[in-house]
Amino acid sequence: MRILCSFFLLFVAVFSVAQTTPSSSSEFPKEIPNFDLTAMDKTIDPCVDFYQYACGNWMQNNPIPPDKSSWGRFNELAERNRYVLRGILEQAEAPGEHSAIEQKVGDYYAACMDETVVEKRGTEPLAPPMSAIAAIKTKQELIQQIAAMQRDGISALFTFGQMPDMHDSRQTIANLDQGGLSLADRDYYIKDDAKSVETRQKYLEHVQKMLELLGDKPDVAAAEAKTVLAVETGLAKPSMDRTARRDPKTRDHMMQTAEVVALAPNFEFTQYFVNSGAPKFTSLNVSNPDFFKQVNQQLSSVSLDDWKTYLRWRALDTYAPILPKAFVDEDFQFNGAYMSGQKEIEPRWKRCVRSTDQNLGMALGQLYVDKTFGPEGKERTLKLVQAVEAAMHQDIGQLTWMSDTTKQKAYEKLNAIVNNIGYPDKWRDYSTVVVKRDDYAGNVTRASTFEVQRELNKIGKPTDKKDWGMTPPTVNAYYRSNMNDINFPAGILQPPFYGKTMDDAVNYGAIGMVIGHELSHGFDDQGRKFDADGNFKNWWTAEDGKAFEDRASCTADEYSSFVAVKDDKGEVKLNGRLTLGENTADNGGVKLAYMALTNIIGNTPVKPIDGYTPQQRFFIAYGQVWCENVADQQARKWAIIDSHSPGRWRTNGVVQNSAAFAEAFGCKAGQPMVSKNACRVW
Ligand SMILES: [Zn+2]
Repeated sequence: MRILCSFFLLFVAVFSVAQTTPSSSSEFPKEIPNFDLTAMDKTIDPCVDFYQYACGNWMQNNPIPPDKSSWGRFNELAERNRYVLRGILEQAEAPGEHSAIEQKVGDYYAACMDETVVEKRGTEPLAPPMSAIAAIKTKQELIQQIAAMQRDGISALFTFGQMPDMHDSRQTIANLDQGGLSLADRDYYIKDDAKSVETRQKYLEHVQKMLELLGDKPDVAAAEAKTVLAVETGLAKPSMDRTARRDPKTRDHMMQTAEVVALAPNFEFTQYFVNSGAPKFTSLNVSNPDFFKQVNQQLSSVSLDDWKTYLRWRALDTYAPILPKAFVDEDFQFNGAYMSGQKEIEPRWKRCVRSTDQNLGMALGQLYVDKTFGPEGKERTLKLVQAVEAAMHQDIGQLTWMSDTTKQKAYEKLNAIVNNIGYPDKWRDYSTVVVKRDDYAGNVTRASTFEVQRELNKIGKPTDKKDWGMTPPTVNAYYRSNMNDINFPAGILQPPFYGKTMDDAVNYGAIGMVIGHELSHGFDDQGRKFDADGNFKNWWTAEDGKAFEDRASCTADEYSSFVAVKDDKGEVKLNGRLTLGENTADNGGVKLAYMALTNIIGNTPVKPIDGYTPQQRFFIAYGQVWCENVADQQARKWAIIDSHSPGRWRTNGVVQNSAAFAEAFGCKAGQPMVSKNACRVW
């Protein structure tokens, strides 16, 4: 398990200057401007609603496309990139001379696109797990089957994986954690508000329909759906909520394997660990021991038949996207349309590009990088990173609330941060993954099995800090507190985040801010609890720790007052504690990027461009990164599961805390974009 503090929830991807020709060039999305005057609504006073000012016209002119549940600048980039990747994949699947990597991703994509074969094979891909489940006769066999399914990438009952030892991050250890839910959060099973009750009803109907498609009679399928919901509710109740999990202390439970076996004997862990495929180990971390204690009881109280019904559903739910159209459509009706507000399913080719990125992403990413990025991109970015790191050093030095003792430790941590830029030094080797042109389901399963095993093989070995958690075309970035590294995939190092010919003000407002955001994660409510080596170890004096918590509480309370969505089902506010780390990183990131810009342009007057001063351009570029429209259903879902705030609050929440913003736009105390109680951590 990695602690990823990503920049954006969706693992979406961006474009670049591609030399490939997409199948229909008229469809190919336009290049995205770095600084977009047409996006702005200049009838709005920036001191009253800056987000509306920076993005008003964009929001007006860019409705959510029917095959999306939200649409923003990130999605525009991701979509454009999807066309680039499609070009690469269509070339790779066409007849002709190909490298081994091209051949592999090309065959994978071709198999995915061949719907005729997928239809003809029907539910045959599900036969192996289904017959294995049917053959289970004892609870011991049940656990063995769960191990087998997990090895094929089907999540069930709990999760088992690897993570750096929280107290010695140089070593990678095994980790057991809660899991086994089909819906995206425990809240969906537990909360009693009207919307949650409705969601469970829709979920029951969905499970029933899927099982009917599999051939179960309607009354049988209805009863099975109830069983699935009951079993999953039993797993949801002892699961820790997302906000509690932000504190690493709640997940820190090192145990001997014998202790784990004794903690939850019904899990048959001695046998499970052998069957899991993990190398042998004698101790491991258990993120949520209570979960295993409570589910241990359920393993005896719930009947074997009910567990088997649950496993059938987990297999069917996981396989849904690779089965014939009827299954894909029903899966979309629930997960896409009902849960996220998406009107239409994406065309097959987009889903196949996503699938290739998901399952052979480091191979496809290698082709993408060859075409679009290159070593000079790495160098350019490193210079920006160094400038923002220097600003952070300066910022720490100026803090009035932190003692010199803690400052020394903060410098140590800052200096130790590893910068991973663009793409991994060493490409992942997929040579053992068999890809067949006429076996899409088999390809997905074999790639999943490979990935599960690759992760498990890390157990007992020195931690590999060079292993990437995102594929290169991804439009995102992340910080890992247990690695103390920041990572910027090639996908985000492009317009509108970075433009080779853009003025510094715009580049620092966009990509500079992303860099500052990731650096700040090392010092947010979660990251600050890890030291320079990525170990969970306090390096703060008690007084400084208290000063931090007071400042963080200000931010948490501030964002808790922001409305995430308001529709006929009522109003949902942001969870300021769940989003605290991201909000801290946004506020810190803008502050650091602005300092870095000031270090460059100094006090020498710079001529306005397009009528805006560099300071104004910095903030407009920042705001425009967040231009978006979001379906109400998606906004509701994000309010529950996403640790990031919506674009409106990522913009307005930050600027209302910023004195530099007020100065740039001449905003006065009392105006909405000047907070009475400005919160500042970094
Ligand atoms: Zn973040």
